[in-house]
Amino acid sequence: MALLHWLGAIDGIVFRERYATVLSLVLIRLLYQFPTWIQRLYRGVVWRMNPSSKVVYLTFDDGPIPECTPQVLDILREYDVKATFFMVGENAERYPELLARIREEGHGVGNHTYHHFRGCKSNTPKYLQDVEKANSILHTSLFRPPHGRMRYAQKKALQEAGYTIYLWDVLTHDYNPKYSAEHMLAVVNRYTRNGSIITLHDSLKSKNRMLKALPLIIQCLKEKGMEFGRLDTETK
Ligand SMILES: [Zn+2]
Repeated sequence: MALLHWLGAIDGIVFRERYATVLSLVLIRLLYQFPTWIQRLYRGVVWRMNPSSKVVYLTFDDGPIPECTPQVLDILREYDVKATFFMVGENAERYPELLARIREEGHGVGNHTYHHFRGCKSNTPKYLQDVEKANSILHTSLFRPPHGRMRYAQKKALQEAGYTIYLWDVLTHDYNPKYSAEHMLAVVNRYTRNGSIITLHDSLKSKNRMLKALPLIIQCLKEKGMEFGRLDTETK
């Protein structure tokens, strides 16, 4: 945590004063994007889609919830953009009308466990059980582990069960109150590249910043000539 605070402090300097050493630039990048060579070290998961096509992939984790997901869907509809929702099974079960709307409006559906379960804190059979419980509601082969972490055995078991595991290429930190909507836009503008999978959250924690940033992010990427794709079995 101390390292993250330190990185955050340097980050503030870079964005406000436009000054950075090469080392701090490298360290800052790690906050938002792992370089391709690090992504390749962690094999068998999808970090980024086709790097030669100008398509990006917005993803929303932790919903659906009535306090935030409908607003996200309204913005996506207004800009005619498709996205992918990695949903917590418990939420999807509680709000079936939101799950139905996500499907009806043509967005991708991903599994984010039933209880937002931390893989590192549980054994593999329990973890799989939680994922399968979510999938009895979500019916998808797309999976993203909560907090982006799980044990190797869990990853292997999920892949053997037919899941494709998606992480991300750009992390916006929309859940962190230290960062503003403008900061999120600056991060997306700076780090998004062809095929980037961008992570946002339709959660109470992120709501205010994220809803303010989302239209700006979409406009910015459209101005760069990017199209918006949906993660699904066809886009693996
Ligand atoms: Zn999550």
